[in-house]
Amino acid sequence: MANFRVHPQQSVEGKGPGIDCIDIVNMLGDYLDGDLSPETAHRCQHHFSECSYCRRLFEEYCTTISVASELRDIPPPADVRTRLRSRLLEHLRSGSQK
Ligand SMILES: [Zn+2]
Repeated sequence: MANFRVHPQQSVEGKGPGIDCIDIVNMLGDYLDGDLSPETAHRCQHHFSECSYCRRLFEEYCTTISVASELRDIPPPADVRTRLRSRLLEHLRSGSQK
């Protein structure tokens, strides 16, 4: 298992202004559902503005969703979040195991 810098039990709400990629991974579902508090959602957006990797994954997700909604024949890509999340986790693992 990778050792992330952020303690999983540490709430994002109590943290400083910045959040890490692992926070994005943990909150991705809630963020996409709009279930985060406005402040926390704002922190996510701030992270996207600073982290090109998370931003790219997020943009890719949005593109996939919009393409899927245009092509009504295919079902909503319910597994996209799971793939997004696992890809981000892979990225974090490879980055922390140098
Ligand atoms: Zn990131």
